[in-house]
Amino acid sequence: MDFISKLPGQELSIFSVMSKMAKEQNAINLAQGFPNFDCDPTLIELVHKNMTAGHNQYAPMAGTIQLRNQIAKKIKLLYNIEVDPLSEVTITTGATQAIYNSIQTVVHTGDEVIVIEPAYDSYVPAIKMCGGTAVSYSMKGPDFKINWEKLGAMINSKTKMIIINTPHNPTATRLDQQDLQTLSDLLADTNIYLLSDEVYEHLVYDEQSHISAMQFPDLYKRSFITYSFGKTFHATGWKIGYLVSPPDLTAEFRKIHQFTVFSVNTPVQLALATYMQTPEHYQQLPQFYQQKRDLFLEAMQGSPLKALPSAGTYYTLFDYSAISDKKELDFVTDLTYNAKVAAIPVSAFYADHVENQVIRLCFAKRDDTLLEAARRLSTL
Ligand code: PMP
Ligand code: GLN
Repeated sequence: MDFISKLPGQELSIFSVMSKMAKEQNAINLAQGFPNFDCDPTLIELVHKNMTAGHNQYAPMAGTIQLRNQIAKKIKLLYNIEVDPLSEVTITTGATQAIYNSIQTVVHTGDEVIVIEPAYDSYVPAIKMCGGTAVSYSMKGPDFKINWEKLGAMINSKTKMIIINTPHNPTATRLDQQDLQTLSDLLADTNIYLLSDEVYEHLVYDEQSHISAMQFPDLYKRSFITYSFGKTFHATGWKIGYLVSPPDLTAEFRKIHQFTVFSVNTPVQLALATYMQTPEHYQQLPQFYQQKRDLFLEAMQGSPLKALPSAGTYYTLFDYSAISDKKELDFVTDLTYNAKVAAIPVSAFYADHVENQVIRLCFAKRDDTLLEAARRLSTL
């Protein structure tokens, strides 16, 4: 059959590539971002309980009211902001579907979307699939900061949306109060929407707090803000997340949501709602992951790979320029085959595969896994 591809030239996601290579080479997988420890057994019991209690049919289209209420309570507790669970919270099939749908909701053929690179790999294909054009703003290592003035100069009459991600995958940086205030001022007199991907909101370290687009009224009114329970509760395979967005945007988002998934699985929603009644379940996350980050960084002191600061997420970038001038993809392939540790080349997060001689390692792993990976990387 002849067909015209909607994503011509699209490569297989780097996460699939590296996880497959890790498996084939029997290497430790610090590439794809997922924990290699299980989620809380209490959460599993709660899912089981809801299944055996017969909660196995469709949930309401926007999500169960129990879970949406708990999300609204969490937002009040963390950010002191009131969102209406009925009209501003929608449960989605992971953050991925929330991102895809948000872009579908507002981007039309010919529109431009500013994407800050290195960028998570699902943004650009989603833009292309609605006939939009992704316009890249490129952050450069080693500090990967945004120069808002330069970014502002990219705005024109075709700009429909800007996508931000904080804490940031893959650079492990985060936006602060000043960044978001500057962005708010930049967008003040425009009709530009904001997609704020905040899936790592709980993974912020060194006594800092996550700053959300929700905390800036002039940003929030134009925002689609996406979250992931997979990241938060160590259950990436459950593929459940949510969107927070003002009522007018939510109403439009749901027109599409009802025809992409209709609703998300019921027993997991009900289990999460009960589990979230205990705020400690998410409040202890920064401490939990900061310990892992510090253990890993300490063990990596013996390695020639040089760590860049990790302010948030469960990743750290490492500079390998002291030992190799290979391209990032070649370097991580060598690492997987020879050192038996798989990593992600940061070049995969740039449309033009910009090379910074840095790789991303994920520290959402058991302590013994992190120590063994660091031991292997110290022999380079
Ligand atoms: N955004 C970013 C920045 C991510 O790292 C991920 C990976 N979890 C997602 C979105 C997708 O999240 P989910 O697995 O809930 O679809
Ligand atoms: N978010 C995870 C990462 O960046 C994995 C996402 C995926 O496998 N699609 O590694």
